[in-house]
Amino acid sequence: MMKPFKILVCLFCLLIFTADLKAQNATRLNLYDTKISDLMKNEKVRRAFEFLREIEPQTIEEQIKITEIPAPTFKEAKRAEYFRQRFTELGLQNVRIDKAGNAIGERPGKSNKTTLVLTAHLDTVFDENTDVRVRREDKVLKAPGISDDGRGLTLLLAIAKALYEARIETDGSIIFVANVAEEGLGDLKGTRHLFNEELKNRITHFISIDGAELKITNQAVGSFRYRTTFKGKGGHSYGAFGLPNPIHALGRLVEKVSRFQVPTKPKTTFNVGKISGGTSVNSIAASATIEIDMRSESPSELAKLNAAYKQVVEQALQEENERWQNVEKLTVENLAIGNRPTGTQSPDAPIVQIALAADRSLGIKSELEASSTDSNIPISLGIPAITLDGGGIGRGTHSLNESWDSTNSHIGSQRALIITLAIVGLRNM
Ligand SMILES: [Zn+2]
Repeated sequence: MMKPFKILVCLFCLLIFTADLKAQNATRLNLYDTKISDLMKNEKVRRAFEFLREIEPQTIEEQIKITEIPAPTFKEAKRAEYFRQRFTELGLQNVRIDKAGNAIGERPGKSNKTTLVLTAHLDTVFDENTDVRVRREDKVLKAPGISDDGRGLTLLLAIAKALYEARIETDGSIIFVANVAEEGLGDLKGTRHLFNEELKNRITHFISIDGAELKITNQAVGSFRYRTTFKGKGGHSYGAFGLPNPIHALGRLVEKVSRFQVPTKPKTTFNVGKISGGTSVNSIAASATIEIDMRSESPSELAKLNAAYKQVVEQALQEENERWQNVEKLTVENLAIGNRPTGTQSPDAPIVQIALAADRSLGIKSELEASSTDSNIPISLGIPAITLDGGGIGRGTHSLNESWDSTNSHIGSQRALIITLAIVGLRNM
């Protein structure tokens, strides 16, 4: 049994230890706050900061222009070309469109210590026949893609323009990228290409600007997606009765998926989002397909869910085949149509702390989020990354009724500028 005196000593030590930790935390917080306030005191930075507020009406005009160039996933070429031109006009160097279709412009710094990729995604979830003309009602702009990611894309240009106008020279380099294939089946193809090939081993920091509001995404929600197809001989519903039935197998599978148990924390989800198959009411179908999306903040929960799904696919197939004596058996094809890596990044990571300090300095109430964005790739590789919202107020994202309210939207531009500069540093600071 511990003596009362010993307990007291232990308690005392614990108090000192906690106080020490708190002090350490405070010093570190002060470090980032000082960094931001030093930046804000710099004359050129102040000029760029003010400039972004002044040009916000032009920035919004540019947002409209970008949104009105259709850019469904895998068909972003026209919008990419617009960025190639604008990057050149804004004095960026080594401007190019890479093999994946990403538009890239570089702003070299003095040293190679830091290389920040500042990016937004070109593609939208809407097909090429969607009416993307922007309707304006006072401060509210309405069009599919106006916010996601018309807003983020526009900020790339506004920030490049502000740095150019204020003649800011940075210590680290900034690489501006308008990337392809972020949405849906694009599966982050553009960003993967940056890390695997185009900018391999060069990127030390990564910021994606995506959509409206002023949140910070520092956690990557990973996902697995499959298109699962049961195939059989098919035949007349009466004449060929007794054949295993792909639609019945599909039903068995969906029923099993619907019974999955997943934790709410870490948030883990599953959804059968699409089913198809069959030709007529009096035919046994030759094939039936489902598409499923499974997500989690935790790599191990996602792996568990993925393994469980593969298992129930086999069970559904087996049960349907065993139900009938027929020698004709069903087969199944389980095609992976998406795999976004997950990963954790502590809120204490310097890149997150810089963003939080910028928020404090601008009077923004910070919100940290877990989401599935371009930052999934660097976070899964252990490279510091955040996704920032681009300011304004977004509604109806991914719907034809998408709208964006520009009230105080310049704060989004200013915040992204300050965070960018805090990461790469000024040349003479
Ligand atoms: Zn987006």
